[in-house]
Amino acid sequence: MKVMVVDDEKDVELLFRQYFRKEIQQKTIEFLFALSGEDALDKLHAMQQPPEIVVILSDINMPGMNGLQLLQLVKREFPAIKVSMITAYSNQYHDAAREFGADHFYTKPLDFSTLKEEIFKG
Ligand SMILES: [Mg+2]
Repeated sequence: MKVMVVDDEKDVELLFRQYFRKEIQQKTIEFLFALSGEDALDKLHAMQQPPEIVVILSDINMPGMNGLQLLQLVKREFPAIKVSMITAYSNQYHDAAREFGADHFYTKPLDFSTLKEEIFKG
């Protein structure tokens, strides 16, 4: 299963690689990382179409395109991809994210056991 993580904080990649080490080794999951919404869209466009990405986990607060804008663009162009939001601010964007079709909403610091469960549950 391919999962794209979009966050302007570089450390996020390390966290995911640590918490999903076993699954990555077993190839039950493959991560792609993007550091901005623009980067994420570029990567999606560069893939074989439709992209094999099952879910995108995106930060909301990022320089340039924010996560809510990315969510809307992805839902419009790649409706099969699930998009979940990650943010340090708990409720501020919840309603907007729901309205734009976000599948899950995670707050930082990430609870990786819940995240893992929901990723595999779909
Ligand atoms: Mg951020």
